[in-house]
Amino acid sequence: MNLTVFKSHLYPDFTPDISILSKHSGLFPCHPERSEGSHHSFIIFPGFCDVHVHFREPGFSYKETILSGSRAAARGGYTTVCAMPNLNPVPDSLPHLQEELDLIRQGACMQVLPYGALTVGELGREGADLEAMAPYVIAFSDDGKGVQSEAMMRSLMERCAGLGKILAAHCEDESLLHGGYIHDGVYAAAHGHRGISSESEWGPIKRDIRLARETGCAYHICHISTKESVALVRQAKKEGINVSCETAPHYLLLCDENLQEEGRFKMNPPLRSRADREALLEGILDGTIDMIATDHAPHSAEEKARGLEKSAFGIVGLETAFPLLYTELVLKGIITLERLIELMAVNPRRRFGLPLKNDDYTLWDLEATYPIDPKDFLSEGKSTPFEGRLVQGKCLLTVAGGQIAYEGQ
Ligand SMILES: [Zn+2]
Repeated sequence: MNLTVFKSHLYPDFTPDISILSKHSGLFPCHPERSEGSHHSFIIFPGFCDVHVHFREPGFSYKETILSGSRAAARGGYTTVCAMPNLNPVPDSLPHLQEELDLIRQGACMQVLPYGALTVGELGREGADLEAMAPYVIAFSDDGKGVQSEAMMRSLMERCAGLGKILAAHCEDESLLHGGYIHDGVYAAAHGHRGISSESEWGPIKRDIRLARETGCAYHICHISTKESVALVRQAKKEGINVSCETAPHYLLLCDENLQEEGRFKMNPPLRSRADREALLEGILDGTIDMIATDHAPHSAEEKARGLEKSAFGIVGLETAFPLLYTELVLKGIITLERLIELMAVNPRRRFGLPLKNDDYTLWDLEATYPIDPKDFLSEGKSTPFEGRLVQGKCLLTVAGGQIAYEGQ
């Protein structure tokens, strides 16, 4: 067996503690075809870090639990994830947050860091108790909803700046939605669907960049999907504003030309145009986009079985992100493997102030090929537009905090 650590100048001090592998005798004899005369080499990466997942507890455990979600994350190579606050109760006060913290302590097989909500009930009307929650949350967000009021957003940014916390924004101007549920583009026009305009995303981003400049708030934009958003962030960074952003694998690999009349193609923001997809790739290449998050958003099978118009927004992503991006971006020569690791493991931690640790790592067979099959997912959510897609790269093992969080069959 040929086991190597993926070295990079990005993390010169990363020396994973692999003693657990030798102690765990049952680990490799179950892969005799791999260990005997195989050309396959196994490679160790730092554990990936996803700053945007939905683990649905408390409140919606029929969609996902912290246990199933964190197991899915481990199978995807992650060792740290940040959980969004669109829950019930919404973590908008210390007692509400405590319910989520208790569930994380009971269910998580890795580091699961909660976001605190920005506003009470994520309703945008009254600021949440940020000060009380600050010591226990990774950052603040109303993800799932945009903060509509400029005065409210200014006040929230001032408070986050005072607390030294990142404000992570789901940018969506509800006055521009007009009942839309896919991108307002070629597919919507051809098939008679109501479209979501790009401006509903970039309008609030433009406003918030101005507010971030004025308040000094560390501002992070969730799941950017439009070419205008990329241009705005690029310009803001040139001006030295404290801004960062993420996009998700589906916005890099799909566009509205790939849509089918199925719920597994429905998420918010929607799959945009080919030009948007190309601009996002440019943003990945020139560093405008800091990191890739999955926006892993599981729902029940029934909630995703109602077609494009009526299904719930959201797809799963934790178990497919690395294989998809490795296959489509690295193996096709668009980005290097080192850049992918930077986007998935290094930059998220750097921006959110998390250390990269030697007891958080993931072991991959980069030559294994297989079709994506949702039946294999450890996530309770099975809805993905990538179902059936052939990918290369298989996670064999993930160690989180020195414990085996995932071990492949
Ligand atoms: Zn969102």
